[in-house]
Amino acid sequence: MQLIWDEFLNIITAEAGSQVVETWFKAVCLESWDPSNSIATLRVPNQFVSRWIQDHYTELLKTHLARLLNTHTMRLSFEVAPQHENAARTRNIMPASVIHDTELVNEPTITPATHASHHMHRPPVLVQHQSEELILSDRAKKPRTGGVINPAYQFDNFVVGPSNSLAHAAAYAICESIGKVYNPLFIYGGTGLGKTHLMHAIGNEVSKRNKNLVVRYETADTFINDFINSIRFDRSQQFRNRYQAVDLILFDDIQFLSNKEQTQESFFHIFNMLYEQQKQIVLSSDTFPKEIHGLQSRLKSRMEWGLVADIQTPDIETKIAILTRKSDAHRIALPEDVAEYIAARVVSNIRELEGALIRIGAFASLTNQQISLEMARKVLLNLNEPKREGIMLDTIIKVVAKHYDAGINDIRSKKRHQDISLVRQVAFYLMKKMSNCSLQVIGSYVGGRDHSTVIHAVSKMELLLANDQALASKIKAMEQEILQS
Ligand code: ADP
Ligand code: MG
Repeated sequence: MQLIWDEFLNIITAEAGSQVVETWFKAVCLESWDPSNSIATLRVPNQFVSRWIQDHYTELLKTHLARLLNTHTMRLSFEVAPQHENAARTRNIMPASVIHDTELVNEPTITPATHASHHMHRPPVLVQHQSEELILSDRAKKPRTGGVINPAYQFDNFVVGPSNSLAHAAAYAICESIGKVYNPLFIYGGTGLGKTHLMHAIGNEVSKRNKNLVVRYETADTFINDFINSIRFDRSQQFRNRYQAVDLILFDDIQFLSNKEQTQESFFHIFNMLYEQQKQIVLSSDTFPKEIHGLQSRLKSRMEWGLVADIQTPDIETKIAILTRKSDAHRIALPEDVAEYIAARVVSNIRELEGALIRIGAFASLTNQQISLEMARKVLLNLNEPKREGIMLDTIIKVVAKHYDAGINDIRSKKRHQDISLVRQVAFYLMKKMSNCSLQVIGSYVGGRDHSTVIHAVSKMELLLANDQALASKIKAMEQEILQS
């Protein structure tokens, strides 16, 4: 049975993706196959998983299991073997419930039986052990940041400049009286701009000031995983309980909660519980609360109850200051002109800024040379180039459409009114500037136009840009967004 089930998992991993398998099927097993009445019995950890699989995967199961078991007809029966802490310890056989699929019984009901079903070949405890192990190994594969405060991220090594001073000041202020001043504190900004650094700095500072306070850091990703697992193993109560004693919760990248209805529901209750007890909540996201798509509006509005602070792209002085600080920390002797060069070269992302520095430092130490401008040029020659090659026309048109609130189809259409013509020109201009595509390709991508139209649009844009500062900075913002997508 195990071999058949393993084979089934392989097939649906290819068909439905590993996420589906990890989430729904790993804790399930094929318990038995009875050819006399064509019933395959599956053991599932709880009723929720059972229902979900019945609602979503019955056809998939029947098709593939029938083939693997060499049969034409098949009915499914689901046995719920709820987990029980004591059972795991004493290795008792758990009360099992039998649920048949909709073909057998219309409304699935749980009928707890006091004895083990005769289908069982192994006690369900083993299933539970196996599942727990699987969860652990899933986690081991993923970098898991939830729950751990990184001591490397401190206020001391966070460089403050105009782009991040508000977020920094607010973060520092809450450490002085947590739960009292800005609650929640919501930090938002593009990737690699220091949100996670600031959150850990808060965690470190608060723990330093008062060791008795309970600080918890987690990302939306780990929250979602843990929430799903808590449902799979009937541990919703334990899941909620872990927030009961928390004094400070640092919740990173909450944009990933988008479209996760049930997880948002749970998050909402945890948020309310902590907020009512005046526990400090810090949230981060890549955008302003209102702009997080697929997030319940009651959550969005709660996120704006306290202070919303943004982190912007750093100016060149801040970038140089960060480089100097990082080079000291990494013991890299970085001449000033090289720092300036790197700062100018790396447009917006501090993580990339650090990456560039490390590359140059590594090159210098490997070749046993002092860092020089010439070396930096050589090492960073291809910086952004791979990305540049990868820039797709779809990304450009999407970003342009978003910035002008226009439809992609309108940009590609033959419409000629002034507004859409300008948007189209911007798209042409950025495509010519940022992609490697030929003018012909660009023209035909944007509604089958010829290359002379593209040339015309691009030179018109260049003229406009020379005289319109606002337009120029709007285009700059789009360029940065395209580079980051
Ligand atoms: P985000 O969470 O916004 O994507 P991170 O906090 O992970 O960004 O920052 C990316 C890297 O840049 C980290 O190594 C972080 O230490 C560094 N960094 C970001 N902002 C600063 C800053 N103001 N001073 C020093 N280092 C910074
Ligand atoms: Mg981050």
